[in-house]
Amino acid sequence: MGRGDEADAPATGPMAPPLREAQPRGLCTDCGVSRMADAAACGRACQFIRPDYATAEARVHGRARETDGDELFFGPFRQMLKARLTTPLAGAQWTGITTRIAQRLLETGAVDAVLTMAPDPADRWKPLPVIVTRPEDMASVRGMRMGHAPLLALLEPARDAGHRRLAIIGIPCQVHALRALEAELGFERLYVIGTPCSDNTTTEKFHQFLALLSDRPETISYLEFRADYRVELRFDDGTHRLVPFLMLPISKLPGDFFPLTCRTCVDYTNALADITVGYMGGEGEQWLLVRNDRGAELLALLGDEVALSAPGSRGSRAGAVKGFLSNTRLAAGGLPLRQMPDWARPIVGWLMPRIGPKGLEFARARVEMKAIETVLHLRSSHPARMKWMVPPHVWKLAERYGLVPEPGERRD
Ligand SMILES: Cc1cc2nc3c(=O)[nH]c(=O)nc-3n(C[C@H](O)[C@H](O)[C@H](O)COP(=O)(O)OP(=O)(O)OC[C@H]3O[C@@H](n4cnc5c(N)ncnc54)[C@H](O)[C@@H]3O)c2cc1C
Ligand code: SF4
Ligand code: SF4
Repeated sequence: MGRGDEADAPATGPMAPPLREAQPRGLCTDCGVSRMADAAACGRACQFIRPDYATAEARVHGRARETDGDELFFGPFRQMLKARLTTPLAGAQWTGITTRIAQRLLETGAVDAVLTMAPDPADRWKPLPVIVTRPEDMASVRGMRMGHAPLLALLEPARDAGHRRLAIIGIPCQVHALRALEAELGFERLYVIGTPCSDNTTTEKFHQFLALLSDRPETISYLEFRADYRVELRFDDGTHRLVPFLMLPISKLPGDFFPLTCRTCVDYTNALADITVGYMGGEGEQWLLVRNDRGAELLALLGDEVALSAPGSRGSRAGAVKGFLSNTRLAAGGLPLRQMPDWARPIVGWLMPRIGPKGLEFARARVEMKAIETVLHLRSSHPARMKWMVPPHVWKLAERYGLVPEPGERRD
């Protein structure tokens, strides 16, 4: 992988330029803004300070989300689809739609560069922000890493390198800050390919989790929380394992395993991206939310490489979300999670994929759970931030479960 200190050498792959040090911040996922020339831009960009989704959605998509129906959960969209690449790409997290769209942008000359995360050469689970300019190099950034890394700190080096038309692949907290600064950055063209994100943690902590899952954690090459209530693990020797969520060693993880940022994050589905590429509503396939004209343009780049169909929705989420609420109340109050007895776990683990909500109903459940988590954890850890950090649509989702704003918690 090219490094910035080899700037005179011909490009030989994704470039990881040297970046400034991060500035100390409170709630922060090191999206990269504090490493930009104007580190004070965090004040106007950060998801964890005073997000205004309605205004940002109107600016980016031409209108804010509708406050009933599925847009309340998933943000503004024009089209919601189940999707898969007809030839899945090796090394991709799912079938590789995300990186293939970016690759097509480079192939067609629509952009000069793509900003995204490569696996760090020293630790494949650690995200390393890189600038990709050759279509063939998109193959090396496929797949998911666990951790936060300063994607947006690449914007200035990309501009200094003369790139005027960019694509960025980002998670929601990165995309929120990007959209806030987009106008002042002055790029000619900017495409934003977003993925959903939840339950991220530091790469160091993620290694603790891997160590609980296997006696050979260093050989785990892939991990995904699937929509069928199982975690899929793949190993370097080509074997794989499915672990029902209920059998995961979650109770053995330290209380601070998930940072407060990710327990109080208010945008699961990347509402400010041009297109969101996830899997939650895909019933085993990928799940696309095409949000605006530019998102439609991005999907069209795939032509007949992508198979599209209408997403399904089955079951009822209410019971699962209520159970989550009870457990989260305990966790936010510092009490240990209620554990299901060992004998019951395999039975319930077997039942969940059969009776649990599926497709869009699964996605709605996850978004409601995230809203509940935000309200409860923020209330117990940073009550003074509630008023500005919790957007109206998150309150609306939580209110269905009896979680209503207390005096001073809601902006009017
Ligand atoms: C921490 C995390 C949690 C996620 N949770 C969910 C979820 O709950 N529900 C859901 O539907 N989807 C979630 N996703 C997205 C999902 O894992 C897939 O990335 C997405 O479905 C795209 O699959 P793909 O095959 O098209 O991706 P690929 O073509 O393999 O491309 C993946 C892209 O993601 C980038 N990337 C990888 N790791 C990171 C990282 N840590 N930070 C920023 N960018 C990264 C890669 O650089 C690459 O560009 C999550 C992603 C991350 C990083
Ligand atoms: S997440 Fe980004 S915008 Fe927010 S404080 Fe950290 S660096 Fe600044
Ligand atoms: S869960 Fe939210 S805050 Fe945490 S990394 Fe993902 S988008 Fe950022």
